[in-house]
Amino acid sequence: MYQCGNWVKGEGGVREILDPSSATIITKVTEATATQVNFAINAARVAFDSTDWHRNTALRVKVLRSLANLVEKSAEEIARIETKNTGKPIRESRLDISDSIACLRYYADLVECKEVWEKEMGDGTISRVKDEAIGVCALIVPWNFPLLLGIWKLAPALAAGNTVVFKPSELTPLSFIKLAILAEKAGIPKGVFNLVLGDGKVGQALVEHPAVDKVSFTGGSKTGQWIYEQCAKHIKRVSLELGGKSPLLIFDDANLENAVDWAMFGAFFNQGQVCVASSRILVHESMHEEFLKRLSNRLSALIVGDPLDEHTEMGPLISQGHLQKIQDYLAIGISEGANLYFGGEQILENHGFYITPAIFTNVKQDMRIVQEEIFGPVITVQSFSEEVEAIQLANGTVFGLAAGVLSQDLERAKRVADQLKAGTVWINGYHTPHIEAPWGGFKQSGIGRELGPDGLSAFIERKHININQKLGSNHWYKRI
Ligand code: NAD
Repeated sequence: MYQCGNWVKGEGGVREILDPSSATIITKVTEATATQVNFAINAARVAFDSTDWHRNTALRVKVLRSLANLVEKSAEEIARIETKNTGKPIRESRLDISDSIACLRYYADLVECKEVWEKEMGDGTISRVKDEAIGVCALIVPWNFPLLLGIWKLAPALAAGNTVVFKPSELTPLSFIKLAILAEKAGIPKGVFNLVLGDGKVGQALVEHPAVDKVSFTGGSKTGQWIYEQCAKHIKRVSLELGGKSPLLIFDDANLENAVDWAMFGAFFNQGQVCVASSRILVHESMHEEFLKRLSNRLSALIVGDPLDEHTEMGPLISQGHLQKIQDYLAIGISEGANLYFGGEQILENHGFYITPAIFTNVKQDMRIVQEEIFGPVITVQSFSEEVEAIQLANGTVFGLAAGVLSQDLERAKRVADQLKAGTVWINGYHTPHIEAPWGGFKQSGIGRELGPDGLSAFIERKHININQKLGSNHWYKRI
């Protein structure tokens, strides 16, 4: 753990960190006790209250840029760490690292050119609107994009002037341990960035601590709901990036081969373990059969294997427990009467947590496999006849994270996009986040937005200062 500028051995127990492609131990880490979590929060508190970190924009910009440069120098090493620990194909890890570097630079640039808004008001007073850091922020992330999702929080939190205690997933701490080493090299002041390792209990201790002013959480909806409740007790600032069940709508004028490409990319990138994965494919009835045929043909040829191999297109799932969860959902789908049209077979390769991508057909909207987030390489394919029906099916879950629309008719695609209840809609594409644009969910997919200027606002308290230059009174009450 990295606390108050020191590397400290955790006293809360030892955890084996596994390589999911072989179920072998990569390394062991020590985790934090409640007392050590308190110590890290206190270090962040002192760094916020007693140093000029939150006032010194030039220092923050310098540290962020220097960190970006150091990550860039170690990019290949970090990508390999990420792949080893998560099982994602190496070409995907490389993308995560380059997006992380861009994100660090983006927020350094954004705060560097930020100006205080000032205006003379109708009554002659001057109003100033000033952004200030919130204070101590607890940043908690899941295992599917350990570095990238961490940087989406860390970069704006630090850029805004906060101090942080960061907790990665207990399954995937390795890339952020490396990041902490680089942050130290980049000159991050003592106590500004603290890293605590551990599972949900450590996360709970962070959320419940009264000295934490803001919780920014990415993870499952149930955990998010609990965090929201805890934060309500102290009206603590909170951002939640939660689960999804995102639809990809394929209209009858879409190019079929491109549609198969986007469906595969949307659904099976990172083994489908993506919050915005296009896990529900809605395809026009005229293309339904042909789409299924071509998709299953392409999936039969997918290269599933060692994620460090340059040719691998799909790696293992994150853990034995997660593999079991996916297999349970396959059984639920079958018991609900859906047809397991393709895949879903465990691959007994090298003791890794491998499964082939799965397609369910004959599904009904109220089935659990349509309504619940599976978070793995399992999709449902439904057909529709009218645009209005497609929109209804697409919006028919409690989630609202993302959606995709494939159509050559851009007017139709935009019309449909406007009616989808989703934080991000890709037209004739899927998945790519854009650092300058917001990311987050409608409905039960979350509260707030990351990335873009919104991502910075999530770590800011906005203050309005109104100055009466005349120094007089308004004489509202009679003087005696
Ligand atoms: P999870 O909720 O189990 O854990 C996420 C993190 O929270 C981990 O670090 C975990 O240790 C910690 N945690 C667990 N219980 C906690 C508690 N009570 N208090 C505080 N922290 C606690 O989720 P997961 O299985 O690691 O991740 C998968 C989920 O993340 C999926 O639902 C996925 O959709 C979601 N996700 C969302 C986004 C997004 O941008 N909306 C991105 C990636 C993943």
